[in-house]
Amino acid sequence: MQTRFEPAALADPAMATSEGVIRKCVHCGFCTATCPTYVLLGDENDSPRGRIYLIKDMLENGRMPGPETVKHVDRCLSCLACMTTCPSGVNYMHLVDHARAYIHEHYKRPWHERAVRRLLACVLPYPGRMRLALEWAPLGRPFVPLMKRIKALQPLAAMLELAPAKVPAPAPSVSTRVAGAKARVALLQGCAEPVLSPEVRAATERLLGRAGCEVIFAPGEGCCGALVHHMGREADALDAARRNVDAWMAEIEGGGLDAVIVTTSGCGTTIKDYGHMLRADPVYAEKAARVSALAMDVSEFLARHGLPPASPRGLTVAYHPPCSLQHGQKVTEAPKQLLAEAGYAVRLPAEAHLCCGSAGTYNILQSELAGQLGARKAERLAALEADVIATGNVGCAVQISRHSGLPVIHTIELLDWATGGPRPQALKHLPQE
Ligand code: SF4
Ligand code: SF4
Repeated sequence: MQTRFEPAALADPAMATSEGVIRKCVHCGFCTATCPTYVLLGDENDSPRGRIYLIKDMLENGRMPGPETVKHVDRCLSCLACMTTCPSGVNYMHLVDHARAYIHEHYKRPWHERAVRRLLACVLPYPGRMRLALEWAPLGRPFVPLMKRIKALQPLAAMLELAPAKVPAPAPSVSTRVAGAKARVALLQGCAEPVLSPEVRAATERLLGRAGCEVIFAPGEGCCGALVHHMGREADALDAARRNVDAWMAEIEGGGLDAVIVTTSGCGTTIKDYGHMLRADPVYAEKAARVSALAMDVSEFLARHGLPPASPRGLTVAYHPPCSLQHGQKVTEAPKQLLAEAGYAVRLPAEAHLCCGSAGTYNILQSELAGQLGARKAERLAALEADVIATGNVGCAVQISRHSGLPVIHTIELLDWATGGPRPQALKHLPQE
């Protein structure tokens, strides 16, 4: 695609990157077929190609973003299905990340949108605040039907609906020492997952310990920054990235690290991108690239290092590949292979490439579209007649659980169980093997 950026504008590294991305697009339109919002809405402006044109027009002309452009960029899930489909290697992720940051900086949203976004940015990345908010959520639930009728309050209604009926008790992070360990790995503690599904971390620690790994938790590490990054809050996202780079670099230069392991694939995609996010920071660019090179999804790590001996549990598993894992990280085979190796019968749903509608804060900020995608995904998964749905991202698990009667758990919980761990709580109702 031809571009006409002013040379002065291209002095900005973000603008130069975006120009390079846009120039790669040959506007063939292959990506439209796999874009969830185009599939639902059939509007070119809600397709990757349409968004690329809108973003190009905004950036190239240094234009103040208008409400129409913002609407179509906001509707993008950042699912990155378009990147898997694109034959020209267009890095849509870097382009839309820049567009979101540009919009955040140059566009004044209505007051209620600003308030909700600020609330999400102040609560979700902090496990303590998030836990408190979830514990108070039942008080707001009776007002959900009323809130749904008032546009400004719809995101709050969506938040209340997503809150679990009961907040699980927290699980402490305890570093596992293994004599003669095969590998020393840092496990991301994260923000939402330990509050919503503390059992995932516990299962991961047990499994990695059984696989002969020493698991450590780096002091000072926190939210990866993905949640604020996807809302265009660039400065907050970069602060989170720098803090985590510092925490893991201290371990790399101390006891050494073989990997930074991530159990929430949305976070994994962002951590793998730290090198790019901090590329213009002279103090952090190199360190961030080192951390990104060590980041691995837990399934990717186990597929490389080997699963401990497993006993089949006789279950059929419907595997839901999170977009951030299949499109963002291109990790497609490892989770399925590990589940099969552990003795599960693995089935993949139709339209496995389509997003479930979770996408960070999307199911709060775009609850209607997210609801349609969630229901569609649950229907495809139900058709598999499986005993359980497995996935690798807490956001997907929460979203699919809202629309499905089946238990939805993390792949790692099934692998832990098959290799000697306890039966996952969500499967207690099944007959004993
Ligand atoms: S598939 Fe790639 S090259 Fe074709 S329109 Fe989409 S982004 Fe552009
Ligand atoms: S990231 Fe997903 S929703 Fe956004 S344009 Fe690409 S395919 Fe469509």
